[in-house]
Amino acid sequence: MIDLDDLSVKNLVKLYDYDLFTLGNLADDIRQNLHKNKVYFNMNRHINPSNICVDICKFCAFSSHRKNPNPYEMTKEEILSDTKSAYERGAREFHIVSAHNPNYLYEWYFDIFRTIKQKFNDIHIKAMTAAEVDFLHRKFNKSYEMILNDMKDSGVDSMPGGGAEIFDKEIREKICKGKVDSDNWLKIHSIWHNMGYKSNATMLFGHIESKEHRISHILRIRELQDKTGGFNAFIPLLYQKQNNFLNVNNFPSGIEILKTIAISRILLPNIPNIKAYWATLGLNLALVAQEFGANDIDGTIEKENIQSAGGANSKKGLSKEELIFQIKDAGFVPVLRDSMYNELTSF
Ligand code: SF4
Repeated sequence: MIDLDDLSVKNLVKLYDYDLFTLGNLADDIRQNLHKNKVYFNMNRHINPSNICVDICKFCAFSSHRKNPNPYEMTKEEILSDTKSAYERGAREFHIVSAHNPNYLYEWYFDIFRTIKQKFNDIHIKAMTAAEVDFLHRKFNKSYEMILNDMKDSGVDSMPGGGAEIFDKEIREKICKGKVDSDNWLKIHSIWHNMGYKSNATMLFGHIESKEHRISHILRIRELQDKTGGFNAFIPLLYQKQNNFLNVNNFPSGIEILKTIAISRILLPNIPNIKAYWATLGLNLALVAQEFGANDIDGTIEKENIQSAGGANSKKGLSKEELIFQIKDAGFVPVLRDSMYNELTSF
């Protein structure tokens, strides 16, 4: 095995040369030490208030300014109604991320969070990617600190990990030119962590990036985590290939996807959870990934607009019962968690 203390990209990219089972065993040892045979999931609801966006990310199938012909803006009443019905079905985490809609006023965001939190005070709001924070910063000339404080004061409990894509500057120029750059993505999370709050980190892989870009991305997340300890989970997001302008023809094999998840587990000993997000991987591969370093599968979601626009089979979410059945059937112990990974019920 290569020297894992040599944190150069040149050295660590050699991990991809190991066979899947060597990597899987190594990742599974770390996972078993941390989480034994548990697979975490939660009762969550995704809400995407609008798909109208000023940005032009080439990989995006969600924005109405790309290949999606159906622009929408949810009203506050619609958002509240969706929140209420999901709450009544047991959802306690509300994952609220939007396209960068130029029609929204600054207060629109905070008013929504505040209103939801006042009505349902025992929920967790996970909202505003660093890309959205950067969008507000540019549009309304507010500092990151000011925006993050307004998020905190209006009831946001944690930040999702979206908008990280791939940190490499040249690849970012090609796939998401104009959106938050990598230094600022990391800076926004760093400020949030230093305010005492948690977030997640993602990596979009399987498009035009190289294995070296993935390793470098993971190492930058590791570096920030060493400083702040604020990331709850790392989520390698598989690129969805339909309805976008990126024109990718070579997709990673299942083996390469599993290797990427295993390598994430091996290279991020300082992040407690690796999520195999079923909405991008599909449920079957997400379950297999639990044997290759992942320990979380995400949740019920209920309604999913972003990955499903790109071809993922996730539009309607999954029921709690289905998740429990499938996790058990794969030989693991399903554990319902809250948004901070506190265990609620083991099945
Ligand atoms: S990925 Fe987000 S920021 Fe980029 S075009 Fe799509 S909705 Fe807009």
